[in-house]
Amino acid sequence: MLNDTLPKYFDPRKYASHESALDGCLPLNQFKELCAILASDEGNAFIHLDFRVDEDRRYIATGSLTAQVQVVCQRCMGAVPYDLALDLSLGFVYDEDHAKNLPSHYDPVVMTDGEVILADMVEQEIILALPIVAYHEESGCNPTAVKYASSTDDAPDDEKPNPFSILAQLKAK
Ligand SMILES: [Zn+2]
Repeated sequence: MLNDTLPKYFDPRKYASHESALDGCLPLNQFKELCAILASDEGNAFIHLDFRVDEDRRYIATGSLTAQVQVVCQRCMGAVPYDLALDLSLGFVYDEDHAKNLPSHYDPVVMTDGEVILADMVEQEIILALPIVAYHEESGCNPTAVKYASSTDDAPDDEKPNPFSILAQLKAK
């Protein structure tokens, strides 16, 4: 399997000192927090990172993160495919204070005991990149679902007497 090449944890300082790279794919279904937001847990996230120590002795990594995720359409609650393609520029820091000193073009990633859990880092990057609300393109929605979604407080027609038919009955008497 492809993701066997990816470590579960990594020490960014070691990777940066050796100018190593990380390359591989992670199945989306392992991301519990992300999958709770998405319409489907199918698919993979592909990550590529090149590590180095920058001129100010920071441990950094640049690269890309791509995934096709299924977000939830806010009109019909169906799945909308969404292509994520992120350019990553990460700065590894010891704590939140350290993160504040990081130049703004780096996204801070806080290490725990000198290590980073790769899946957690990838999951957070994806969640931050998701659209806040998503819709199908005009007319791309599931029409039945839209009908129900937009009339949730109306009882189905057969349960509610039609006011005009009541009127007709009264007139007939
Ligand atoms: Zn829709």
